Amino acid sequence: MDIAVIGSNMVDLIAYINRMPAEGETIEAPDFKMGCGGKGANQAIAAAKLGAEVLMLTRVGNDIFADNTIENFRQNGIDTRYIFKSDASSGVAPIFVDPESRNSIIIVKGANKLLSPADIETAAEDIKKCKLIVLQLEIPTETVYAAVKFGEKHGIPVLLNPAPAQPDLVLEHVKSCEFIVPNETELSLLTGMPVDNEDDIRNAAAALHQAGVKNVIVTLGSKGALWLNQNGEEQMFPSHKVNARDTTGAGDAFIGCFSHVYVKTGDIAQAIKTANFYAGDSVTRLGTQSSYHDRAEFVADYP
Ligand code: ATP
Repeated sequence: MDIAVIGSNMVDLIAYINRMPAEGETIEAPDFKMGCGGKGANQAIAAAKLGAEVLMLTRVGNDIFADNTIENFRQNGIDTRYIFKSDASSGVAPIFVDPESRNSIIIVKGANKLLSPADIETAAEDIKKCKLIVLQLEIPTETVYAAVKFGEKHGIPVLLNPAPAQPDLVLEHVKSCEFIVPNETELSLLTGMPVDNEDDIRNAAAALHQAGVKNVIVTLGSKGALWLNQNGEEQMFPSHKVNARDTTGAGDAFIGCFSHVYVKTGDIAQAIKTANFYAGDSVTRLGTQSSYHDRAEFVADYP
């Protein structure tokens, strides 16, 4: 087993509307799509599509979405033994998209809120066989802290993507991570520092490093990614120039691909370079998981 993703899954329920309904009004939407999402699931799927062996620890509800979500993991070759059913709703995200692509999103975390430190213990023997633990913040913070501790205790590197930005995340509890991979907003919230320009970003990344985080990788959208390595040296990786159509899930594509290349090669610079390309390529297509290429498509495209 290569990677254990301990995180969320959501079902995106996307209504394409002509305009937002007024209060008390019912309107008809011309189109609807359902898709699998959630940051944990997206990152697991991206890594698995590229050929990583991925174990997913997550919770689904006791509703019609649960089996669909499990089947999606299965079809992508992910180990589903630790996808637990809970007496709750599945995580769902009703999304409204207007003709100008403006969106409004409601996130119902549902069963994701029940993923507990005890679940990590249930899967412990198999997580111990993994080369990397990947975490995000759509599950309870105490479970994130427990996973970081688990990695530390068993000598497994941990990658934390501190997204979505959580004001209550305590840096002290996650500073032992091998990798923290925030975007600019998350970096600012995590450090309490501004990120208004390149120097600010460098200083905030350096503060994370000084707090004890070995590698800080800041994703910078169309600008690429900045890596501050374990010696405090920084390196900028520019993104690929692409015709961006839909950047949703770009961060998750980056982390899934980075994790895959890192566990296969141990080469962090190569993993960032490849992830920049993979995530940049994904934004040229609509959708989230559906915009992630598999190994064969990726190999064919990679320069
Ligand atoms: P999201 O929340 O939409 O998943 P994010 O804020 O977590 O995104 P970003 O920093 O926006 O993550 O993007 C992640 C990576 O995706 C970037 O580091 C880059 O490699 C790639 N990327 C994103 N947007 C573009 C773009 N317009 N052109 C090229 N590459 C892009």
